[in-house]
Amino acid sequence: RGLPGLLIAVLLLALTACNLAESQTGDAEKGYVGLAMPTKSSERWVADGKNMERLFQEKGYKTDLQFAEDVIENQISQIENMITKGVDVIVIASIDGNTLTDVIKKAHDQGIKVIAYDRLIRNTEHLSYYATFDNFQVGVQQASYIEEKLGLKEGKGPFNIELFGGSPDDNNAYFFYDGAMSVLKPYMDSGKLVVRSKQTTMAQIATLRWDGALAQSRMDNLISANYSSENLDAVLSPYDGISIGIISSLKGVGYGTSAKPLPIITGQDAELASIKSIVAGEQTQTVFKDTRQLAEQAVKMAESVLKGEEAEVNDTESYDNGIKVVPAYLLPPVSVDASNVEKEVVETGYYSKEEIGLK
Ligand code: BGC
Repeated sequence: RGLPGLLIAVLLLALTACNLAESQTGDAEKGYVGLAMPTKSSERWVADGKNMERLFQEKGYKTDLQFAEDVIENQISQIENMITKGVDVIVIASIDGNTLTDVIKKAHDQGIKVIAYDRLIRNTEHLSYYATFDNFQVGVQQASYIEEKLGLKEGKGPFNIELFGGSPDDNNAYFFYDGAMSVLKPYMDSGKLVVRSKQTTMAQIATLRWDGALAQSRMDNLISANYSSENLDAVLSPYDGISIGIISSLKGVGYGTSAKPLPIITGQDAELASIKSIVAGEQTQTVFKDTRQLAEQAVKMAESVLKGEEAEVNDTESYDNGIKVVPAYLLPPVSVDASNVEKEVVETGYYSKEEIGLK
């Protein structure tokens, strides 16, 4: 008689322990959320992942956060694992937005909803929503900065410029490029901006996986082939990691002195190394996209989806993924340079003054 009683007591204890453990990572009954991020090699994605994880857990959801180190197969198998674990919704910032059609179909067949985070996922009908920043506007802000600093509107020029694009498998890269070209192309056509390398199409200027080292060696080649007797005045760079690569290349060939200052160099993401570089007077500009806001927006979307309600969107025409126009919520990006860095990134609590090298 004693033994069954003891067994029952042990079983009850074990069950209580399980319940306690469950509530620490969130309440699975409220919902289980998979968060598939592309890589830890860029700070922004680490911040995006952590912010969402925290917000979901604070609201009582259970989470599974994964980073794929920019390897497409990793991301696919991480999403497959999430499906096996029984998540209710998956928020994905894709590596290559064209490679997830099959795995998203699997999720859909299990009743799992999918939200695209920052990067559009293409070629699938099973995408509920898209949370991102206004990507076209990012390109407009980078190019308008160059326009303003060179005095192009006032008729100054001609100036030499080189162009860098983002990863060709990332839908955003084309929006950044189109936004930038909407500002720069008229000056290129009129000869006020000269691209000595003649590399101006997205195919010619793209940087696979946003790789800074790749951009650095492309800049090396551009300089040696086109700028032995010419000065480079501006570089359109779509992302801080690429800007840092461009700056090392340029410093290697003698730019960055008072006799030969660095050109105007744009960027994106307000990564710590680039903000420090802006404070130190090297990189000129970045586009700040507050990942805390995007995480909040994605969490709101996921909650609506889980409740079976419609999520709040503010764009229902820009993001055609090849199969359907995905309803989106676009947040506003902010152009940052040395003049407003303190206001935008310190006063908003993104970085501390000490972290970015401001006294
Ligand atoms: C994001 C950018 C980021 C880039 C490289 C893009 O999809 O929108 O914020 O700079 O990827 O990670």
